[in-house]
Amino acid sequence: MRILIVEPSFYLPDGGLFYTPRLQIVGLTLPLLASLLPGHEVTLWFEKCQGAVSSDQLPVTSNGFDVVLISANHVQAVRACEIGDYFRACGIPVVMGGYFPSLNPCRAREHADVVVTGEAEDTLPHVMAKLAHPFGIEGYVRSANNCPLEGMAHPRFDLVDPSVVDRRTLWAVQATRGCSRDCDFCVMRKVYGRTVRRRPVADVVAEIEARGHRALYFVDDNLTLDRAYALELFRALRGRVDFALVNMDSSVVDDAELLDAAAAAGVRQALVGFETLVDPEAVKGFGTVARYERLIDQLHSRGIMVCASIMFGFDSDGPEVFALTLRQLERWRVEFCFPWILTPVPGSRLMDRLVTEDRLRYGQDFWRLPLGAAGMRVVFEPNLMSREELAEGYGRFLRAFYSVPSMMKRLPLGPRGALPWALNLWCRRQVRRGLHPALQ
Ligand code: SF4
Repeated sequence: MRILIVEPSFYLPDGGLFYTPRLQIVGLTLPLLASLLPGHEVTLWFEKCQGAVSSDQLPVTSNGFDVVLISANHVQAVRACEIGDYFRACGIPVVMGGYFPSLNPCRAREHADVVVTGEAEDTLPHVMAKLAHPFGIEGYVRSANNCPLEGMAHPRFDLVDPSVVDRRTLWAVQATRGCSRDCDFCVMRKVYGRTVRRRPVADVVAEIEARGHRALYFVDDNLTLDRAYALELFRALRGRVDFALVNMDSSVVDDAELLDAAAAAGVRQALVGFETLVDPEAVKGFGTVARYERLIDQLHSRGIMVCASIMFGFDSDGPEVFALTLRQLERWRVEFCFPWILTPVPGSRLMDRLVTEDRLRYGQDFWRLPLGAAGMRVVFEPNLMSREELAEGYGRFLRAFYSVPSMMKRLPLGPRGALPWALNLWCRRQVRRGLHPALQ
């Protein structure tokens, strides 16, 4: 079969589709899906770089495909539904998967013939076998969400169009899947189950060697959660990686052995889920501001840049939270910040709570409305401030953090500052266009 796998773009506040000439990070999903389709002719399509799939930019006409797979998160949901409608109108079966369909299967089913919820490894082969059958398949296919990661097929990064990457591009890799923590705004446990699955370290290393990529983004939700595993992995990566970006939480603070191993493995940037600097214990159930400060210091002393993931709008956040957070991040010389407005993801406990408390402003289907990008809009009634205060404070924070005066306070000068300055200036351009710095 000729199969098109699409990563939809997403809509900008001005109503246009986001476009970028190259991928800063090549995600795992499309190459991973392609690896599950041996014997088929597969085309990967990154809409934000390669253009709208409904245009004439595809290498073959849309009628040349036997089936279209669409993988989408909530940011891409509206566009994913449009693409599903487009190909179905062309008479081509559409299969939809990813976070959005997994958590909103009925909504996704309105725009797809088959909705896959959960993981692809134990569902996609079944779907493809059925699609080849004269009676085809319609409806829902659910993953058990416990696919073993041992012996995982290597993602087909060779199918990525070379024109969408350059020497600065990071390539996704996965060592673990899932997170055993239980933050109420997060759906990781719902999607991947309660346990963390690990790939054998030798498998991860073999894949990296085979791919030849030395600039990596570990997509693991929390790579350092299992300390022993992370230590083994970091030790095995030594000498094989030039630049790695990893997600971690504050539990690694004071763990000199692990942090040394991370630095020696080529970890140069850590995305840390701080979420709040007001009352982390209340929000996440672990972490303190004092621990955050120590961790940032310990990462910096090993040459690891810090990207703080922050959310505004928790019940403990008042109007002063924006200035307080900016002051702290500048004092700690944090290189990057991905701030978000707290947004209830369908399927999360936060969503259930806000529904129960009757605090949702636009109902549970808000992601369908043209309200601006998810995570940059207020869709609920905050506790200690008004919706307007939250929206304005958030915008003010974003512009202030990525302003030149703030960069002067936070970023090193000289050769060590070249990369953080270049990336901050890029983020500043994004913010000035009304975009989030994490949206690439
Ligand atoms: S927010 Fe991070 S630490 Fe919390 S459950 Fe999700 S992945 Fe785990």
